[in-house]
Amino acid sequence: MKIGALQKTSLIEFPGRISCIVFVQGCNLRCPYCHNPELVLPEKYLPLLSTSEVMGFLERRKKYLDGVVITGGEPFTDSDLLPFVKNIKELGYSVKIDTNGSFPEVIKNMMAGNLVDYIAMDVKGPYEKYEVMAGVKVDMSKIKESISLIKGSSIPYEFRTTVVKEMLEISDFEGIGELIKGAKLFYLQHFKPSKAVDTITLSYHTYSDEEFEEIRMTMLKYVERCEIR
Ligand code: SF4
Repeated sequence: MKIGALQKTSLIEFPGRISCIVFVQGCNLRCPYCHNPELVLPEKYLPLLSTSEVMGFLERRKKYLDGVVITGGEPFTDSDLLPFVKNIKELGYSVKIDTNGSFPEVIKNMMAGNLVDYIAMDVKGPYEKYEVMAGVKVDMSKIKESISLIKGSSIPYEFRTTVVKEMLEISDFEGIGELIKGAKLFYLQHFKPSKAVDTITLSYHTYSDEEFEEIRMTMLKYVERCEIR
């Protein structure tokens, strides 16, 4: 596994679980506002952590943690992911995967093998802006297939969008709503400039609380629950 970092405890990343977070190095997208450039841009990569040391940590922490969040980067770019997750499940952990939705075939395999207990998928923007938001060409049929697999499964899930004011109009959320129509849970995430794949976005903003509420109302026409974080 290409593990770029490990956060040893989190009370918020995995709903209902005390988890640790494994950050996978590597991503197929280049979202300009991404705040993890060291997991996305090869020239910024830091030395990898040893997979066996991370497994050793998970073995020792079984008494204190009950979930493992695998995020990135994009976890599904790592061809060693499935055996890695199998080993984690064998230790008794629940697994949450964060994904950008580009690899529906791997989502399907994980679901079939009962390897995932919660899926969080980014929805970058409405259909017509997807490639600008993702910074590269995107196969939208894969994104749509992932959305439909996730919505159709019995596994708890969330969709989420990072709200960058300079890149997403309030009206764009109608298009985002159309993409995930019927979903149970959607999160609007404040964009917080700190680090970025494209540093121009460090001067970008998010919307005001009132505008977030307006966006939330728009999304509630399409999803059962919409929360702001
Ligand atoms: S925000 Fe975009 S570039 Fe960053 S890790 Fe997620 S999918 Fe990759």
